Amino acid sequence: MNKITQSEWLVKLPLLQSVMEQKEVLWCNPSVELVAAGLLKTRLSKFDIVDASDRLERFAPYLAKVFPDTDKGIIESPLTPIPKMKQELEKAYAIHIPGKLLLKQDNALPISGSIKARGGIYEVLKHAETLAVSSELLDSTKDYSQFDTPRFRELFAKHKIAVGSTGNLGLSIGIMSAKLGFNVTVHMSADAKQWKKDLLRSKGVQVVEYIDDYSKAVEEGRRQAEADPSCHFVDDENSTDLFMGYAVAGERVAAQLKEQNITVDEAHPLFVYLPCGVGGGPGGVAFGLKLALGDHVHCFFAEPTHSPCMMIGMMTGMHDQVSVADFGLDNKTAADGLAVGTASAFVGKTMEPFLTGCYTVEDQTLFTLLKELADSEDIWLEPSALAGMTGPIQVIKSTLPSADSKNATHLVWGTGGNMVPEDEMKSYYHYTRK
Ligand SMILES: *Cc1c(COP(=O)(O)O)cnc(C)c1O
Repeated sequence: MNKITQSEWLVKLPLLQSVMEQKEVLWCNPSVELVAAGLLKTRLSKFDIVDASDRLERFAPYLAKVFPDTDKGIIESPLTPIPKMKQELEKAYAIHIPGKLLLKQDNALPISGSIKARGGIYEVLKHAETLAVSSELLDSTKDYSQFDTPRFRELFAKHKIAVGSTGNLGLSIGIMSAKLGFNVTVHMSADAKQWKKDLLRSKGVQVVEYIDDYSKAVEEGRRQAEADPSCHFVDDENSTDLFMGYAVAGERVAAQLKEQNITVDEAHPLFVYLPCGVGGGPGGVAFGLKLALGDHVHCFFAEPTHSPCMMIGMMTGMHDQVSVADFGLDNKTAADGLAVGTASAFVGKTMEPFLTGCYTVEDQTLFTLLKELADSEDIWLEPSALAGMTGPIQVIKSTLPSADSKNATHLVWGTGGNMVPEDEMKSYYHYTRK
């Protein structure tokens, strides 16, 4: 951060003082624009989403065959009203939530139980398709269930896929790549959870551990992959493919809302709260939602008070040129999916005209909400996935127009949970302040 010093930022952006004090804050993005105007500022368009959506359709016969728990090969999750949790929130925060409260249950996504089953799996499938097409392996039926045959597996065995991840991205990339027959390596920091390493190894994934932190693992993974032309590196910070895989969620949610007779228009705004790490998952989903539903869907990113990298990056406009450490924050959080010190510049810049705001959540709040959701609705999310749950509180308390309308719908994106082993989940449930 050489251009402007910390104290100069504090004069320009007084909210940063509270961010540095690790308070729970809401930042409203002054650069948000109408969708049509925002689209002029990005090279991404609706066509990219349609392309991704069509590709996932092509792969449905294959996925249905190898992962029978998908819905006929479509990887999608329920959109669930959570009225009892709404009452819990109203009680806990002494606030009235006039609109509806829905949970998007990506914790229950098939194959890998988190939002990463959208982007991660999509990127692997796209790479597999590219290889199959260039090797002229697809027969004239064009039925993609042929990807589950020895001829395809033999091709993929000659190719490598690598990713650096301590968590859900590694699980998604690892599981999908191994199923197709790729030679797949997940680079992890040594502090990554043992159960994740065990699970990946049991599926034939190579797990490489690093004593250093996560960013070292990513850097080393990238370096090794770049030296090897047969290796495809999944780049969490810069991948358009990941982003588009996530973006397909937009049209899917639009269809689910319609099924539930929920309108989105000026009189019926939709507020969406998305837990944010490096930004690809929530960014892709929010981009897809804006294109599918238009100007009356308002998207917010949710981050831990110790790791608000996207908030700081977008607020300052410095994106990946600033880190949470520049503002005295330690990036230590139990929300392991969100423990990111520097946001993706690709996502931050792309989302500048589309994002309504960012807010932060304390770790203790995540654990309290985890227990309340389990007790009230019997839905079990991992700590990161609860960051969206205080969104309605933040937004209703703010001066944002129509947030407190009885016609508003509040949609909390539950980003993960089903892969967490039971004893681990129990320890989250019984978590007490350390
Ligand atoms: C990865 C992840 C996120 C955030 O996604 P990013 O692409 O890193 O911003 C949120 N919640 C869970 C459970 C995740 O695994």
